[in-house]
Amino acid sequence: MVEKKRVVIVGIPGVGKTTVVDKIQETLRKKGVDVTYVVFGSVMMEEAEKIGVKHRDDMRKLPVAEQRKLQVSASSSIAKMDSAVLLVDTHLFIRTREGYWPGLPNDVATALAPTHLILVMASPNEILARRRADTTRIRDEASEDEIVEEIEIAKNMLNSLALITGATMIYVRNAEGKADEAAAKIVSAIGV
Ligand code: ATP
Ligand code: AMP
Ligand code: MG
Repeated sequence: MVEKKRVVIVGIPGVGKTTVVDKIQETLRKKGVDVTYVVFGSVMMEEAEKIGVKHRDDMRKLPVAEQRKLQVSASSSIAKMDSAVLLVDTHLFIRTREGYWPGLPNDVATALAPTHLILVMASPNEILARRRADTTRIRDEASEDEIVEEIEIAKNMLNSLALITGATMIYVRNAEGKADEAAAKIVSAIGV
């Protein structure tokens, strides 16, 4: 029996996770692989709409206790998803009004049971430019120093997550104009 892959893709806002994961799923579908692609934030948003949240970028402005309920509910739905390859597009931490808050605390990480953790990377300048150019989202204004800090936190959180879950960790650079290359590296690393 072929081992099922549960791939969790993370990286700071605007680094290009969704762009890269879209390409991964396209590649896998063309190969005939049974793949499910889920954006954790979209599953949260389905519940958030019921309590009057209008935009996905407003969820992180809710009290952390409210976000936590949405997070737990999304993680239990996603935990039940079963396919040869499950791709989960999510965040290591959320910048809330109450401070940096873990996106994948112990219970959530354990429920998702990842086999592979992928940290999508780019330089602070590239990330700043991508956030500014993307008018589809309401991203927080951040200085280059703050982006450097976010990258540092992301690396630390990824280490902790690997220890909790026993999954492998992969750093993948999403270079300017080269999301296809980043996707190809991930496909090769997960071995399908
Ligand atoms: P969020 O965490 O907010 O969901 P994200 O990490 O999913 O962000 P994307 O929405 O995929 O990021 O990308 C942010 C912006 O950067 C988009 O406008 C996208 O087109 C652009 N982008 C992504 N990857 C690249 C790349 N390799 N080169 C140039 N632009 C890119
Ligand atoms: P995204 O489109 O990936 O940016 O997701 C939209 C929003 O969903 C994020 O800005 C967060 O508010 C929320 N979100 C996504 N993943 C998580 C998570 N693992 N834990 C808590 N909130 C999350
Ligand atoms: Mg995204």
